[in-house]
Amino acid sequence: MVGFQTHLLRGEQERVFRMIPGLEQAEFSRYGMIHRNTYIHSPKILSATMEAKERPGLFFAGQLTGVEGYVESAANGLLAGINAARAGENRERVVFPAETAIGALAHYVATGGSGKFEPMNITFGLIAPLTERIRKKKEKNAKIAERSLTLLKTIDVG
Ligand SMILES: Cc1cc2nc3c(=O)[nH]c(=O)nc-3n(C[C@H](O)[C@H](O)[C@H](O)COP(=O)(O)OP(=O)(O)OC[C@H]3O[C@@H](n4cnc5c(N)ncnc54)[C@H](O)[C@@H]3O)c2cc1C
Repeated sequence: MVGFQTHLLRGEQERVFRMIPGLEQAEFSRYGMIHRNTYIHSPKILSATMEAKERPGLFFAGQLTGVEGYVESAANGLLAGINAARAGENRERVVFPAETAIGALAHYVATGGSGKFEPMNITFGLIAPLTERIRKKKEKNAKIAERSLTLLKTIDVG
């Protein structure tokens, strides 16, 4: 149960859950825990097309690549799907620019960023920074989104 993703120690979980009326004497067969993703070490294995570097034609998609979340997994799956279809037709793979959210995630997965490789949600911080300096966050993020949408229109995903 999503609601039982918790850092609470077992004893503390028992204490808190027994406060729920009817559960005072309950026997708990399983305790809550924070879920852990299973993912490959993509920076070593994948390029930003989601294709295996050492085995062309093999693609990985979604959470397994080191992205996290519904939207991220769907976006990453779309990228892998587009490129798998292109591979089937012996066509050049698409790389989304790091200025777009889908590209920023793909580049993160393929390079690993700095430090230990961990699953990543999309954030504005992951997207390539603007060349100009804009102080107001809302304005800056709107500009990043605008730039991304303009770039996306130039990419041939057919
Ligand atoms: C408790 C919990 C709460 C979450 N809450 C949120 C949330 O609120 N918002 C959010 O954005 N994300 C949330 N997530 C993360 C989100 O669920 C995942 O990031 C996303 O579903 C991953 O999508 P996916 O398609 O890559 O993988 P999955 O959804 O895991 O799909 C993989 C599929 O492959 C199947 N499969 C596995 N092995 C095989 C095999 N050998 N052969 C055939 N099929 C196989 C599995 O059965 C599964 O259907 C949550 C995750 C958990 C565990």
